[in-house]
Amino acid sequence: MNKLISYSPATGEEIGAVRQDGPAAVNEACRQAQTAFNGEWRTNSKYRAAFLDLWADNIEARAEDIAALLTLETGKIRSESRTEVRLTLEALRFNAQLSRLVAGTTHELPDGSVGHVIRQPAGVSAFIVPWNWPIFLLFRDMAPALASGVTAVVKPAPQTPLSLELVLSTMPELPEPVVHAVYGGADVGSALVDNPLVKIVCFTGSTEVGRAVAAATSRRFAKPVLELGDKGVSIIFRDGDIDRAVTACIENGFLTSGQMCMANSRLLVERAVFDRVVDDLSARVARLRVGHPEDAATDLGPVISKQHGARVQSFIDIARAAGQVVVGGGTAPEVSLDGAYLSPTVIAGETLDRRITSEEIFGPVVSVEVFDTAEEAVRRANDSRYGLSAAIWTEHAARAWKTSRELDFGTVWVNRYNRTFAEVPSGGMKESGAGRSRGFEGLYEFTELKHVNWEV
Ligand code: NAD
Repeated sequence: MNKLISYSPATGEEIGAVRQDGPAAVNEACRQAQTAFNGEWRTNSKYRAAFLDLWADNIEARAEDIAALLTLETGKIRSESRTEVRLTLEALRFNAQLSRLVAGTTHELPDGSVGHVIRQPAGVSAFIVPWNWPIFLLFRDMAPALASGVTAVVKPAPQTPLSLELVLSTMPELPEPVVHAVYGGADVGSALVDNPLVKIVCFTGSTEVGRAVAAATSRRFAKPVLELGDKGVSIIFRDGDIDRAVTACIENGFLTSGQMCMANSRLLVERAVFDRVVDDLSARVARLRVGHPEDAATDLGPVISKQHGARVQSFIDIARAAGQVVVGGGTAPEVSLDGAYLSPTVIAGETLDRRITSEEIFGPVVSVEVFDTAEEAVRRANDSRYGLSAAIWTEHAARAWKTSRELDFGTVWVNRYNRTFAEVPSGGMKESGAGRSRGFEGLYEFTELKHVNWEV
């Protein structure tokens, strides 16, 4: 049997292995998911609700084991891994209730007939997920999908197969399992996307791979649901609560060492408060501690790999050449472990190189720029190929409302950052994706509408 080996980003050590699948295993997983879809699962919402609730209970019973494995595989600190488990439970429990509320509409039509518009689960769905928040990002999309009545084939990232394997071992038993896993990299993902039994491909990952997935699904008219990259921006006006804005930036710019789609990696700051923001932010970022993710004193663990660390460093080097690195700027000298440990970095300047302000760095780097008018702030924030998450900091309600309407981002927070809810749809505009996760909208992505017309 071929093996897919997992390594700790914190120490470089081998931490476990799963089977490495090939095309035959992908076909078999899809076939079994189709068999389960043909049974009671697709029609009995109470059965699905009970399953989702029980799965939440089983995960809760193993919460610390799962959090420990998430930290081991991703290198993020334990408190973040616990948050990931908590959000997973929330997704399961919320959607267990939602499954019983799926309904259609009835129309009395001008020719005297009656139209019933019903929602039916679309069929076998593929879930391809990244490594940064591997369990929550899966359940964010898969819990509503299962609630709708589809069955699933999941492909985790090659960096994080062990946590998925553990979570799947807690899945309640059914005569025909409704979730199947396939393990491997791009070739396995690509085989899954191309499988004719798969009706919906729900992909979370980079914009580049998302583009390839969208092209592949369009060839056979499968439906893509895409959650892709971002450049999360905060606009801080002079009347905003600077202290809270800086706190939110630190909490969300350096979360998972900045390896978050919604990371607050870019600040646009009104000129009158620019120096204050840069000074406050720099002083507080300089105090963040980098180290082993299981050390209770650690604020930031390593980035996922040395290769990724070198990519992050290449962005920092652009700013260094321009004399714009205010804090950090390279490998953390205090850590002697065999991983890619980067010092949290602040880059600031009146204007910055466009590669820094528009590309997804996906590391512990926050950039700060100046703006003079609200129109300029909106124009520059929107001058990005991404559009997932933005925030506005101001006490001026009319300005907050107008600005939030004008920003081309799927989520805009006012006076907060990175708050998501199982109740409310979220997703990306522009190259940050297509489709929505969470809420009824997240469930409806996995249904087909059918009109049944009655002569009466
Ligand atoms: P990635 O795009 O490299 O990989 C994501 C998944 O796709 C992995 O499971 C990978 O094995 C698989 N894959 C790779 N090539 C494939 C192909 N040709 N066909 C099918 N599957 C393929 O992303 P990553 O490095 O794992 O994660 C980081 C990226 O994910 C960042 O860009 C980040 O912004 C994004 N992300 C987005 C969200 C969101 O909700 N919008 C959330 C988290 C991460």
